[in-house]
Amino acid sequence: MDLTAQNISKTAPEAPMIDPFGRAITYLRVSVTDRCDFRCTYCMAEHMTFLPKKDLLSLEELDRLCSTFIDKGVRKIRLTGGEPLVRKNIMHLIGSLSRHIEADRLDELTLTTNGSQLARYAEELAACGIKRINVSLDTLDAEKFKTITRWGDLAQVLRGIDAAQKAGLHIKLNAVALKGFNDHEIPDMLRWAHGRGMDMTLIETMPMGEIDLDRTDQYLPLSMLRASLARQFTMTDIPYQTGGPARYVQIAETGGRLGFITPMTHNFCESCNRVRITCTGTLYMCLGQEDAADLREPLRASTDNALLSEAIDNAILRKPKGHDFIIDRRNNRPAVSRHMSVTGG
Ligand code: SAM
Ligand code: SF4
Repeated sequence: MDLTAQNISKTAPEAPMIDPFGRAITYLRVSVTDRCDFRCTYCMAEHMTFLPKKDLLSLEELDRLCSTFIDKGVRKIRLTGGEPLVRKNIMHLIGSLSRHIEADRLDELTLTTNGSQLARYAEELAACGIKRINVSLDTLDAEKFKTITRWGDLAQVLRGIDAAQKAGLHIKLNAVALKGFNDHEIPDMLRWAHGRGMDMTLIETMPMGEIDLDRTDQYLPLSMLRASLARQFTMTDIPYQTGGPARYVQIAETGGRLGFITPMTHNFCESCNRVRITCTGTLYMCLGQEDAADLREPLRASTDNALLSEAIDNAILRKPKGHDFIIDRRNNRPAVSRHMSVTGG
């Protein structure tokens, strides 16, 4: 089927989905594949068992699922993974979903990527109406980059960032703060990012899925990193929002913005507007809880969206108040068994 030929619902969006805690659900993150061309040590084990390809939703099914969420009031969609740009024919899905932006039914279509395929896709992404993307980059040192990603090549990612900026895409850099690994490098990365007109966001490691390392060795509370950055930079809290969980400061010395995503030290759940679907159509109402709803069966049960819509409504009613991530020596187990690559962060 030609994805671009899929209809845009003529009906006005329903009232937004509201969860039991009064939060409107307007943001959908879609993991289009759990596979990746990197093996970041905090995200995956080196040898991973991925979902069987036969269990994956087709691009047409992903489109229908996303479009149903848009019908139900979602205004922002982020494609993620795994690495979203390694999913075969992913540009078909992106091109097709962009019709909702043109029709003013979606405020933003964006993606989070490791940047490895950006040199190839930057122009096409911009042509599809994508304005901003997040690129994950934890270090600017080529050796360390190899260590942390196991399989990645820094030069390739930097070429991707160049291509994306040349194509007019705004980039936000995401770096996971890792104790003893990149904490000392963050000031230089910040100057580099801001010097190129990119915002930057720091993320605390979350205890998701078994990895080969001990997370307590990696975990660095951002409150500590922030205190040490404050000795070098003048930081002012600003109300800037991108629809996600980051809290931003303006840095006087560089003129750029720095965001903090602090799931561990500051639970941000009270303003959560997000749900996530996996590439097999499982809906997770919270990144940090195991409860989930299968949407693949109602999706496939009929061509009409009534069953699907009902399954989504029932799931939203079960959205929990929040997560309870803990990383310390006594709780050295993943809070949830799945890896971040399943739901895509
Ligand atoms: N492959 C893409 C990328 O790396 O940008 C998209 C998927 S990746 C799972 C999304 C984000 O989650 C990345 O910024 C990554 O650094 C972050 N991430 C992965 N595992 C994490 C963990 N256990 N705790 C915190 N962030 C994590
Ligand atoms: Fe792949 Fe992104 Fe996970 Fe790294 S963080 S292994 S790039 S999915």
